[in-house]
Amino acid sequence: MTTDVAIIGSGPNGLLLACELALAGVRPVVLERLRGGAEMPKANGLVGRVVQALDYRGLYERLSGADRPPTPMPGFQFGALPLALSALEDNPMYVLPIPQRRLEELLEQRANELGVEIRRGHELRTLRQTADQVVAEVDGPDGRYELAARFLVGADGGRSTVRKQCGIDFPGITDRGFVSRNGQVVIDPPFAVAGTGELEVPGHGRLRPGTFTRTEHGMFAFGMFQPGLYRVSAIEWAPTPLEDSTSMPLEELREAVGRVLGADLPMREPDEPAAMRRATGTNSRQAEHYRQGRVFLVGDAAHVHSGIGGPGLNLGMQDVLNLGWKLAATINGWAPEGLLGTYESERHPAGARVIMHTRAQLALTSPGPNITAVRELFGELLTDTGNIRRIAELMSGADVRYGDGSGHPMTGRWMPDLPLSTETGPTRVAELLRGGRPLLLTATGGTMKAWTDRVDVIVTADAPAETVLIRPDGYVAWAGADGDGLEDALRTWFGAPA
Ligand SMILES: Cc1cc2nc3c(=O)[nH]c(=O)nc-3n(C[C@H](O)[C@H](O)[C@H](O)COP(=O)(O)OP(=O)(O)OC[C@H]3O[C@@H](n4cnc5c(N)ncnc54)[C@H](O)[C@@H]3O)c2cc1C
Repeated sequence: MTTDVAIIGSGPNGLLLACELALAGVRPVVLERLRGGAEMPKANGLVGRVVQALDYRGLYERLSGADRPPTPMPGFQFGALPLALSALEDNPMYVLPIPQRRLEELLEQRANELGVEIRRGHELRTLRQTADQVVAEVDGPDGRYELAARFLVGADGGRSTVRKQCGIDFPGITDRGFVSRNGQVVIDPPFAVAGTGELEVPGHGRLRPGTFTRTEHGMFAFGMFQPGLYRVSAIEWAPTPLEDSTSMPLEELREAVGRVLGADLPMREPDEPAAMRRATGTNSRQAEHYRQGRVFLVGDAAHVHSGIGGPGLNLGMQDVLNLGWKLAATINGWAPEGLLGTYESERHPAGARVIMHTRAQLALTSPGPNITAVRELFGELLTDTGNIRRIAELMSGADVRYGDGSGHPMTGRWMPDLPLSTETGPTRVAELLRGGRPLLLTATGGTMKAWTDRVDVIVTADAPAETVLIRPDGYVAWAGADGDGLEDALRTWFGAPA
Protein backbone atom coordinates (compact mmCIF):
# COMPACT_ATOMS: atom_id res chain seq x y z
CA MET A 1 0.00 0.00 0.00
CA THR A 2 1.25 3.51 -0.79
CA THR A 3 1.05 6.04 2.04
CA ASP A 4 0.01 9.60 1.16
CA VAL A 5 2.90 11.32 2.91
CA ALA A 6 5.86 9.92 4.86
CA ILE A 7 7.19 12.47 7.33
CA ILE A 8 10.71 11.80 8.58
CA GLY A 9 11.21 13.12 12.12
CA SER A 10 8.83 13.83 14.99
CA GLY A 11 10.37 17.11 16.14
CA PRO A 12 8.05 20.12 16.31
CA ASN A 13 8.02 20.56 12.55
CA GLY A 14 7.29 16.94 11.66
CA LEU A 15 4.49 16.77 14.21
CA LEU A 16 2.91 20.06 13.14
CA LEU A 17 2.98 18.93 9.52
CA ALA A 18 1.30 15.67 10.48
CA CYS A 19 -1.47 17.67 12.20
CA GLU A 20 -1.91 19.97 9.19
CA LEU A 21 -2.22 17.06 6.78
CA ALA A 22 -4.57 15.08 9.02
CA LEU A 23 -6.77 18.15 9.47
CA ALA A 24 -7.15 18.27 5.69
CA GLY A 25 -8.11 14.59 5.53
CA VAL A 26 -4.71 13.26 4.43
CA ARG A 27 -3.17 10.29 6.28
CA PRO A 28 0.54 10.80 6.92
CA VAL A 29 2.93 8.33 8.57
CA VAL A 30 5.60 9.83 10.84
CA LEU A 31 8.88 7.93 11.21
CA GLU A 32 11.04 8.82 14.21
CA ARG A 33 14.33 7.12 14.91
CA LEU A 34 14.22 7.76 18.67
CA ARG A 35 12.06 5.53 20.86
CA GLY A 36 11.43 8.30 23.41
CA GLY A 37 11.82 12.08 23.37
CA ALA A 38 15.10 13.93 22.69
CA GLU A 39 17.45 14.00 25.67
CA MET A 40 18.86 17.53 25.46
CA PRO A 41 16.56 20.47 26.12
CA LYS A 42 16.33 22.78 23.11
CA ALA A 43 13.94 25.69 22.57
CA ASN A 44 12.45 27.66 25.43
CA GLY A 45 9.73 29.26 23.40
CA LEU A 46 8.34 30.54 20.14
CA VAL A 47 9.01 34.10 18.99
CA GLY A 48 7.27 36.03 16.21
CA ARG A 49 4.49 35.48 13.71
CA VAL A 50 4.28 31.75 14.42
CA VAL A 51 2.52 32.46 17.71
CA GLN A 52 -0.41 34.02 15.86
CA ALA A 53 -0.23 31.36 13.17
CA LEU A 54 -0.74 28.69 15.84
CA ASP A 55 -3.66 30.70 17.23
CA TYR A 56 -5.13 30.58 13.72
CA ARG A 57 -5.15 26.79 14.15
CA GLY A 58 -6.62 26.87 17.66
CA LEU A 59 -3.33 25.66 19.14
CA TYR A 60 -2.32 28.76 21.10
CA GLU A 61 -4.58 28.00 24.06
CA ARG A 62 -3.41 24.40 24.24
CA LEU A 63 0.26 25.36 24.08
CA SER A 64 0.17 28.42 26.34
CA GLY A 65 -2.50 27.39 28.83
CA ALA A 66 -4.02 30.87 28.34
CA ASP A 67 -7.70 31.30 27.54
CA ARG A 68 -7.36 34.45 25.48
CA PRO A 69 -5.64 35.40 22.20
CA PRO A 70 -1.91 36.16 22.27
CA THR A 71 -0.73 39.68 22.99
CA PRO A 72 2.55 41.21 21.78
CA MET A 73 5.67 41.67 23.96
CA PRO A 74 6.41 45.17 25.27
CA GLY A 75 10.14 44.67 24.76
CA PHE A 76 12.69 42.31 23.22
CA GLN A 77 16.33 42.39 22.12
CA PHE A 78 18.21 42.53 18.84
CA GLY A 79 21.87 41.50 19.13
CA ALA A 80 21.61 42.01 22.92
CA LEU A 81 20.42 45.60 22.37
CA PRO A 82 17.02 46.63 23.77
CA LEU A 83 14.03 46.90 21.42
CA ALA A 84 11.37 49.14 22.96
CA LEU A 85 8.41 47.50 21.25
CA SER A 86 5.75 49.30 23.26
CA ALA A 87 6.51 52.32 21.06
CA LEU A 88 4.92 50.47 18.12
CA GLU A 89 1.24 50.83 17.32
CA ASP A 90 1.03 47.49 15.57
CA ASN A 91 3.67 45.48 17.41
CA PRO A 92 4.31 42.13 15.62
CA MET A 93 6.50 40.50 18.32
CA TYR A 94 4.53 37.74 19.99
CA VAL A 95 6.17 35.24 22.33
CA LEU A 96 4.94 31.89 23.59
CA PRO A 97 7.22 30.53 26.31
CA ILE A 98 7.20 26.72 26.24
CA PRO A 99 9.98 24.15 26.57
CA GLN A 100 10.44 22.26 23.30
CA ARG A 101 9.80 18.92 24.98
CA ARG A 102 6.38 20.10 26.16
CA LEU A 103 5.66 21.57 22.72
CA GLU A 104 6.40 18.18 21.15
CA GLU A 105 4.25 16.35 23.72
CA LEU A 106 1.27 18.61 23.03
CA LEU A 107 1.67 18.43 19.26
CA GLU A 108 1.93 14.66 19.49
CA GLN A 109 -1.23 14.61 21.59
CA ARG A 110 -3.00 16.64 18.89
CA ALA A 111 -1.63 14.38 16.14
CA ASN A 112 -2.93 11.33 18.02
CA GLU A 113 -6.38 12.94 18.34
CA LEU A 114 -6.35 13.44 14.57
CA GLY A 115 -5.48 9.77 14.03
CA VAL A 116 -1.88 10.20 12.82
CA GLU A 117 0.32 7.08 12.82
CA ILE A 118 3.66 7.80 14.53
CA ARG A 119 6.26 5.01 14.33
CA ARG A 120 8.95 5.43 16.99
CA GLY A 121 12.25 3.57 16.70
CA HIS A 122 12.01 3.72 12.88
CA GLU A 123 15.00 5.28 11.14
CA LEU A 124 15.10 6.31 7.50
CA ARG A 125 18.24 4.87 5.87
CA THR A 126 17.87 5.58 2.16
CA LEU A 127 15.26 6.79 -0.29
CA ARG A 128 14.64 6.61 -4.01
CA GLN A 129 12.05 8.26 -6.22
CA THR A 130 10.08 7.10 -9.21
CA ALA A 131 7.69 9.16 -11.32
CA ASP A 132 4.78 8.62 -8.94
CA GLN A 133 6.20 7.66 -5.57
CA VAL A 134 9.05 7.80 -3.08
CA VAL A 135 10.34 4.58 -1.55
CA ALA A 136 11.95 4.87 1.88
CA GLU A 137 14.17 2.14 3.25
CA VAL A 138 13.61 2.09 7.01
CA ASP A 139 15.24 0.31 9.95
CA GLY A 140 12.45 -0.53 12.40
CA PRO A 141 12.35 -2.53 15.65
CA ASP A 142 11.58 -5.70 13.61
CA GLY A 143 14.22 -5.11 10.97
CA ARG A 144 14.54 -3.32 7.65
CA TYR A 145 11.47 -2.63 5.50
CA GLU A 146 10.35 -0.39 2.64
CA LEU A 147 7.66 2.26 2.84
CA ALA A 148 6.20 3.70 -0.36
CA ALA A 149 4.63 7.15 -0.22
CA ARG A 150 3.27 9.62 -2.76
CA PHE A 151 5.34 12.34 -1.10
CA LEU A 152 8.05 12.39 1.56
CA VAL A 153 8.96 15.30 3.82
CA GLY A 154 12.31 15.60 5.58
CA ALA A 155 11.64 17.12 9.01
CA ASP A 156 14.72 15.31 10.26
CA GLY A 157 16.78 18.20 11.61
CA GLY A 158 20.03 19.91 10.66
CA ARG A 159 21.90 16.72 9.77
CA SER A 160 18.98 15.61 7.58
CA THR A 161 19.38 12.19 5.99
CA VAL A 162 16.63 13.17 3.54
CA ARG A 163 18.60 16.20 2.35
CA LYS A 164 21.77 14.14 1.97
CA GLN A 165 19.97 11.29 0.21
CA CYS A 166 18.60 13.78 -2.31
CA GLY A 167 22.07 15.25 -2.82
CA ILE A 168 20.76 18.74 -2.03
CA ASP A 169 23.64 21.11 -1.25
CA PHE A 170 23.71 22.88 2.11
CA PRO A 171 25.94 25.91 1.48
CA GLY A 172 26.84 28.45 4.15
CA ILE A 173 29.43 28.96 6.84
CA THR A 174 30.59 27.17 9.95
CA ASP A 175 31.79 29.73 12.47
CA ARG A 176 34.08 27.99 14.96
CA GLY A 177 35.36 31.15 16.64
CA PHE A 178 33.41 30.80 19.88
CA VAL A 179 32.42 28.27 22.49
CA SER A 180 29.07 28.16 24.27
CA ARG A 181 28.42 26.40 27.54
CA ASN A 182 24.97 25.92 28.98
CA GLY A 183 23.10 23.92 31.54
CA GLN A 184 20.31 23.87 34.11
CA VAL A 185 21.37 24.99 37.57
CA VAL A 186 19.97 26.17 40.89
CA ILE A 187 20.88 29.73 41.87
CA ASP A 188 20.14 30.80 45.42
CA PRO A 189 19.38 34.24 46.91
CA PRO A 190 20.71 36.88 47.13
CA PHE A 191 21.81 36.31 43.51
CA ALA A 192 18.35 34.96 42.64
CA VAL A 193 15.73 37.66 43.22
CA ALA A 194 12.77 35.96 44.89
CA GLY A 195 9.57 35.77 42.87
CA THR A 196 10.83 37.58 39.76
CA GLY A 197 13.12 35.16 37.93
CA GLU A 198 15.70 37.96 37.85
CA LEU A 199 19.34 37.70 38.89
CA GLU A 200 21.28 40.29 40.86
CA VAL A 201 24.84 40.20 39.55
CA PRO A 202 27.59 42.32 41.08
CA GLY A 203 28.66 44.99 38.60
CA HIS A 204 25.62 44.39 36.34
CA GLY A 205 22.68 45.02 38.65
CA ARG A 206 19.41 43.21 37.98
CA LEU A 207 19.28 41.06 34.88
CA ARG A 208 15.92 40.00 33.47
CA PRO A 209 15.31 36.39 32.37
CA GLY A 210 15.32 35.91 28.62
CA THR A 211 17.80 38.75 28.04
CA PHE A 212 21.34 38.59 26.69
CA THR A 213 24.17 40.51 28.35
CA ARG A 214 27.16 41.26 26.12
CA THR A 215 30.49 42.13 27.71
CA GLU A 216 34.00 42.51 26.27
CA HIS A 217 34.56 38.85 27.17
CA GLY A 218 31.48 37.19 25.75
CA MET A 219 27.76 36.92 26.27
CA PHE A 220 25.63 35.70 29.16
CA ALA A 221 21.99 34.63 28.92
CA PHE A 222 19.57 32.89 31.24
CA GLY A 223 15.95 31.95 31.73
CA MET A 224 13.96 30.49 34.59
CA PHE A 225 11.50 27.71 33.77
CA GLN A 226 10.59 26.50 37.24
CA PRO A 227 11.01 28.39 40.50
CA GLY A 228 14.71 28.26 41.37
CA LEU A 229 15.75 26.32 38.26
CA TYR A 230 17.72 28.42 35.78
CA ARG A 231 18.91 27.63 32.28
CA VAL A 232 22.23 29.47 32.03
CA SER A 233 24.36 30.07 28.98
CA ALA A 234 27.82 31.63 28.52
CA ILE A 235 29.37 32.29 25.14
CA GLU A 236 33.06 33.15 24.82
CA TRP A 237 34.97 34.01 21.70
CA ALA A 238 37.79 31.47 21.63
CA PRO A 239 40.30 31.25 18.80
CA THR A 240 40.98 27.55 19.51
CA PRO A 241 37.99 25.26 18.98
CA LEU A 242 37.20 22.97 21.92
CA GLU A 243 35.56 19.55 21.76
CA ASP A 244 31.79 19.46 21.91
CA SER A 245 30.54 17.63 25.00
CA THR A 246 27.28 16.75 26.71
CA SER A 247 28.91 15.87 30.02
CA MET A 248 30.61 19.08 31.06
CA PRO A 249 31.17 19.62 34.81
CA LEU A 250 29.07 22.36 36.43
CA GLU A 251 32.25 24.09 37.63
CA GLU A 252 33.25 24.68 33.97
CA LEU A 253 29.97 26.53 33.34
CA ARG A 254 30.39 28.59 36.52
CA GLU A 255 33.93 29.58 35.57
CA ALA A 256 32.85 30.57 32.04
CA VAL A 257 29.99 32.69 33.43
CA GLY A 258 32.49 34.27 35.83
CA ARG A 259 34.87 35.16 32.98
CA VAL A 260 32.07 36.66 30.85
CA LEU A 261 30.46 38.70 33.63
CA GLY A 262 33.65 39.47 35.54
CA ALA A 263 31.79 38.38 38.68
CA ASP A 264 31.15 35.08 40.42
CA LEU A 265 27.61 33.71 40.12
CA PRO A 266 27.31 30.79 42.55
CA MET A 267 25.29 27.88 41.16
CA ARG A 268 24.66 24.27 42.15
CA GLU A 269 23.36 21.01 40.69
CA PRO A 270 19.56 20.71 40.42
CA ASP A 271 17.55 17.57 41.29
CA GLU A 272 16.66 17.29 37.60
CA PRO A 273 19.18 16.51 34.87
CA ALA A 274 21.61 19.44 34.62
CA ALA A 275 21.78 18.95 30.81
CA MET A 276 25.27 20.46 30.63
CA ARG A 277 26.55 21.09 27.16
CA ARG A 278 29.65 22.59 25.59
CA ALA A 279 29.46 23.38 21.89
CA THR A 280 31.92 25.11 19.63
CA GLY A 281 30.69 27.51 17.01
CA THR A 282 27.55 27.63 14.97
CA ASN A 283 26.43 26.84 11.46
CA SER A 284 24.60 29.22 9.15
CA ARG A 285 23.49 27.10 6.24
CA GLN A 286 20.51 26.85 3.91
CA ALA A 287 19.53 24.03 1.60
CA GLU A 288 19.98 25.07 -2.01
CA HIS A 289 16.51 23.70 -2.76
CA TYR A 290 13.58 22.86 -0.50
CA ARG A 291 12.15 20.39 -2.99
CA GLN A 292 13.40 17.62 -5.20
CA GLY A 293 10.59 15.95 -7.12
CA ARG A 294 8.28 14.37 -4.54
CA VAL A 295 10.55 15.13 -1.60
CA PHE A 296 10.42 18.33 0.50
CA LEU A 297 12.51 19.75 3.33
CA VAL A 298 11.10 21.72 6.27
CA GLY A 299 12.54 23.25 9.45
CA ASP A 300 16.14 22.58 10.47
CA ALA A 301 16.54 20.13 7.59
CA ALA A 302 16.20 23.17 5.30
CA HIS A 303 18.13 25.77 7.32
CA VAL A 304 20.34 26.11 10.38
CA HIS A 305 21.56 29.33 11.97
CA SER A 306 22.53 30.88 15.28
CA GLY A 307 19.76 30.65 17.90
CA ILE A 308 20.10 34.29 18.91
CA GLY A 309 16.65 35.80 19.37
CA GLY A 310 15.00 32.35 19.13
CA PRO A 311 14.04 32.41 15.43
CA GLY A 312 14.23 28.66 14.64
CA LEU A 313 10.68 27.56 15.26
CA ASN A 314 9.16 30.77 13.90
CA LEU A 315 10.85 29.96 10.62
CA GLY A 316 10.40 26.18 10.60
CA MET A 317 6.79 26.01 11.71
CA GLN A 318 5.84 28.59 9.10
CA ASP A 319 7.56 26.44 6.47
CA VAL A 320 5.24 23.69 7.62
CA LEU A 321 2.09 25.83 7.56
CA ASN A 322 3.03 26.97 4.06
CA LEU A 323 3.66 23.45 2.74
CA GLY A 324 0.91 21.59 4.61
CA TRP A 325 -2.15 22.92 2.81
CA LYS A 326 -0.45 22.83 -0.60
CA LEU A 327 0.52 19.19 -0.16
CA ALA A 328 -2.96 18.32 1.12
CA ALA A 329 -4.57 20.14 -1.81
CA THR A 330 -2.43 18.11 -4.21
CA ILE A 331 -3.36 14.81 -2.57
CA ASN A 332 -7.03 15.82 -2.33
CA GLY A 333 -6.96 16.48 -6.06
CA TRP A 334 -7.80 20.18 -6.29
CA ALA A 335 -4.36 21.85 -6.30
CA PRO A 336 -3.82 24.10 -9.33
CA GLU A 337 -0.72 23.51 -11.40
CA GLY A 338 2.39 25.04 -9.88
CA LEU A 339 0.98 25.34 -6.35
CA LEU A 340 3.56 22.97 -4.83
CA GLY A 341 6.35 24.95 -6.51
CA THR A 342 5.38 28.06 -4.53
CA TYR A 343 6.55 26.38 -1.32
CA GLU A 344 10.20 26.87 -2.22
CA SER A 345 9.75 30.22 -3.96
CA GLU A 346 7.98 31.61 -0.89
CA ARG A 347 9.92 30.03 1.97
CA HIS A 348 13.50 30.05 0.68
CA PRO A 349 13.70 33.88 0.81
CA ALA A 350 12.20 33.85 4.33
CA GLY A 351 14.96 31.45 5.44
CA ALA A 352 17.66 33.60 3.84
CA ARG A 353 16.50 36.64 5.83
CA VAL A 354 16.68 34.74 9.12
CA ILE A 355 20.22 33.65 8.30
CA MET A 356 21.06 37.28 7.51
CA HIS A 357 19.69 38.76 10.74
CA THR A 358 21.05 36.05 13.05
CA ARG A 359 24.52 36.53 11.56
CA ALA A 360 24.16 40.29 11.99
CA GLN A 361 23.14 39.78 15.62
CA LEU A 362 26.05 37.45 16.24
CA ALA A 363 28.42 40.07 14.85
CA LEU A 364 26.84 42.71 17.10
CA THR A 365 27.45 40.58 20.19
CA SER A 366 31.10 39.78 19.46
CA PRO A 367 33.88 41.47 21.46
CA GLY A 368 36.18 44.34 20.64
CA PRO A 369 36.13 48.14 20.69
CA ASN A 370 35.00 48.46 17.07
CA ILE A 371 31.94 46.32 17.76
CA THR A 372 31.32 48.35 20.90
CA ALA A 373 31.23 51.44 18.66
CA VAL A 374 28.86 49.75 16.21
CA ARG A 375 26.63 48.84 19.16
CA GLU A 376 26.60 52.43 20.32
CA LEU A 377 25.48 53.52 16.86
CA PHE A 378 22.85 50.76 16.63
CA GLY A 379 21.65 51.71 20.10
CA GLU A 380 21.06 55.26 18.86
CA LEU A 381 19.29 54.01 15.74
CA LEU A 382 17.05 51.84 17.88
CA THR A 383 15.59 54.86 19.65
CA ASP A 384 13.83 55.72 16.38
CA THR A 385 10.36 54.16 16.11
CA GLY A 386 10.73 53.51 12.38
CA ASN A 387 13.91 51.50 12.98
CA ILE A 388 12.38 49.59 15.89
CA ARG A 389 9.48 48.66 13.62
CA ARG A 390 11.80 47.53 10.85
CA ILE A 391 13.83 45.27 13.14
CA ALA A 392 10.71 43.92 14.87
CA GLU A 393 9.17 43.07 11.49
CA LEU A 394 12.38 41.37 10.39
CA MET A 395 12.69 39.29 13.58
CA SER A 396 9.02 38.32 13.75
CA GLY A 397 8.71 37.59 10.03
CA ALA A 398 6.03 40.29 9.70
CA ASP A 399 7.90 41.74 6.69
CA VAL A 400 7.17 38.64 4.63
CA ARG A 401 5.12 39.38 1.52
CA TYR A 402 4.56 36.45 -0.80
CA GLY A 403 4.21 36.97 -4.53
CA ASP A 404 5.46 39.76 -6.78
CA GLY A 405 4.11 42.69 -4.75
CA SER A 406 1.43 43.57 -7.29
CA GLY A 407 -2.28 44.01 -6.67
CA HIS A 408 -4.02 45.15 -3.50
CA PRO A 409 -1.59 46.14 -0.67
CA MET A 410 -2.91 43.21 1.41
CA THR A 411 -2.14 40.59 -1.23
CA GLY A 412 0.66 38.28 -0.11
CA ARG A 413 0.63 39.77 3.40
CA TRP A 414 -0.40 38.25 6.71
CA MET A 415 -4.14 38.58 7.38
CA PRO A 416 -4.50 40.43 10.69
CA ASP A 417 -6.68 38.88 13.36
CA LEU A 418 -9.56 41.35 12.99
CA PRO A 419 -12.79 41.15 14.93
CA LEU A 420 -15.66 40.49 12.50
CA SER A 421 -19.43 40.76 12.69
CA THR A 422 -21.02 37.95 10.70
CA GLU A 423 -24.51 36.60 10.07
CA THR A 424 -23.95 34.11 12.89
CA GLY A 425 -22.52 36.60 15.37
CA PRO A 426 -19.19 38.15 16.31
CA THR A 427 -16.00 36.24 15.63
CA ARG A 428 -12.37 36.90 14.64
CA VAL A 429 -10.21 35.83 11.73
CA ALA A 430 -8.25 33.32 13.87
CA GLU A 431 -11.41 31.43 14.76
CA LEU A 432 -12.52 31.19 11.13
CA LEU A 433 -9.21 29.60 10.07
CA ARG A 434 -9.12 26.84 12.69
CA GLY A 435 -10.27 24.16 10.29
CA GLY A 436 -7.27 24.86 8.01
CA ARG A 437 -9.51 25.69 5.02
CA PRO A 438 -9.23 28.63 2.62
CA LEU A 439 -11.51 31.50 3.67
CA LEU A 440 -13.37 34.10 1.62
CA LEU A 441 -14.53 37.21 3.49
CA THR A 442 -17.06 39.07 1.41
CA ALA A 443 -19.14 42.16 2.01
CA THR A 444 -21.42 41.43 -0.96
CA GLY A 445 -22.57 37.92 -0.22
CA GLY A 446 -20.39 36.56 -3.03
CA THR A 447 -21.35 34.38 -5.95
CA MET A 448 -18.48 31.91 -5.81
CA LYS A 449 -20.49 28.89 -4.72
CA ALA A 450 -18.58 26.60 -7.08
CA TRP A 451 -15.62 26.56 -4.66
CA THR A 452 -17.50 26.01 -1.40
CA ASP A 453 -16.38 22.37 -1.25
CA ARG A 454 -12.94 23.73 -0.34
CA VAL A 455 -13.38 27.45 0.49
CA ASP A 456 -15.39 28.74 3.49
CA VAL A 457 -17.40 31.85 2.62
CA ILE A 458 -18.21 34.37 5.37
CA VAL A 459 -20.32 37.46 4.78
CA THR A 460 -19.03 40.44 6.74
CA ALA A 461 -18.69 44.16 6.19
CA ASP A 462 -15.68 44.38 8.52
CA ALA A 463 -12.92 43.14 6.20
CA PRO A 464 -10.45 45.81 4.99
CA ALA A 465 -11.51 45.20 1.35
CA GLU A 466 -14.84 44.26 -0.25
CA THR A 467 -13.51 40.73 -0.72
CA VAL A 468 -10.50 39.10 0.94
CA LEU A 469 -9.41 35.61 -0.03
CA ILE A 470 -7.26 34.05 2.68
CA ARG A 471 -5.03 30.98 2.40
CA PRO A 472 -5.11 28.33 5.13
CA ASP A 473 -1.69 29.53 6.37
CA GLY A 474 -3.13 32.96 7.20
CA TYR A 475 -1.74 34.90 4.21
CA VAL A 476 -3.94 36.90 1.85
CA ALA A 477 -4.18 35.25 -1.57
CA TRP A 478 -6.09 38.13 -3.10
CA ALA A 479 -8.09 41.22 -2.05
CA GLY A 480 -10.24 43.66 -3.98
CA ALA A 481 -13.73 44.27 -5.29
CA ASP A 482 -15.76 41.20 -6.20
CA GLY A 483 -15.78 41.58 -9.96
CA ASP A 484 -12.10 42.55 -10.21
CA GLY A 485 -10.49 39.15 -10.52
CA LEU A 486 -11.79 37.07 -7.63
CA GLU A 487 -12.63 34.14 -9.89
CA ASP A 488 -9.12 34.18 -11.38
CA ALA A 489 -7.63 34.29 -7.88
CA LEU A 490 -9.76 31.33 -6.79
CA ARG A 491 -8.55 29.35 -9.80
CA THR A 492 -4.91 30.40 -9.27
CA TRP A 493 -4.81 29.36 -5.62
CA PHE A 494 -7.58 26.85 -5.13
CA GLY A 495 -7.96 25.18 -8.52
CA ALA A 496 -10.79 24.69 -10.98
CA PRO A 497 -14.29 24.58 -9.49
CA ALA A 498 -15.69 21.18 -8.62
C1 LIG B 1 19.98 24.60 22.75
C2 LIG B 1 18.96 25.04 21.74
C3 LIG B 1 18.07 26.05 22.07
C4 LIG B 1 17.12 26.48 21.14
N1 LIG B 1 16.25 27.47 21.48
C5 LIG B 1 15.29 27.85 20.63
C6 LIG B 1 14.29 28.79 21.02
O1 LIG B 1 14.26 29.27 22.15
N2 LIG B 1 13.34 29.13 20.10
C7 LIG B 1 13.32 28.58 18.85
O2 LIG B 1 12.43 28.93 18.07
N3 LIG B 1 14.23 27.67 18.47
C8 LIG B 1 15.20 27.28 19.32
N4 LIG B 1 16.10 26.33 18.95
C9 LIG B 1 15.99 25.75 17.60
C10 LIG B 1 14.92 24.65 17.58
O3 LIG B 1 15.17 23.75 18.63
C11 LIG B 1 14.96 23.94 16.23
O4 LIG B 1 14.73 24.90 15.23
C12 LIG B 1 13.92 22.82 16.16
O5 LIG B 1 14.25 21.73 16.98
C13 LIG B 1 13.79 22.32 14.72
O6 LIG B 1 12.76 21.37 14.69
P1 LIG B 1 12.72 20.24 13.55
O7 LIG B 1 11.44 19.50 13.80
O8 LIG B 1 12.97 20.85 12.23
O9 LIG B 1 13.99 19.32 13.84
P2 LIG B 1 14.42 18.53 15.14
O10 LIG B 1 13.83 19.13 16.37
O11 LIG B 1 15.90 18.39 15.06
O12 LIG B 1 13.74 17.11 14.96
C14 LIG B 1 14.19 16.20 14.00
C15 LIG B 1 13.72 14.82 14.39
O13 LIG B 1 14.05 13.92 13.33
C16 LIG B 1 14.55 12.72 13.88
N5 LIG B 1 15.39 12.09 12.86
C17 LIG B 1 16.58 12.52 12.39
N6 LIG B 1 17.03 11.71 11.43
C18 LIG B 1 16.11 10.73 11.29
C19 LIG B 1 16.01 9.58 10.45
N7 LIG B 1 16.97 9.29 9.55
N8 LIG B 1 14.92 8.77 10.55
C20 LIG B 1 13.94 9.06 11.45
N9 LIG B 1 13.99 10.13 12.28
C21 LIG B 1 15.06 10.96 12.19
C22 LIG B 1 15.32 13.18 15.11
O14 LIG B 1 15.49 12.13 16.04
C23 LIG B 1 14.42 14.29 15.64
O15 LIG B 1 13.45 13.81 16.54
C24 LIG B 1 17.06 25.89 19.85
C25 LIG B 1 17.97 24.86 19.52
C26 LIG B 1 18.89 24.45 20.44
C27 LIG B 1 19.86 23.34 20.06
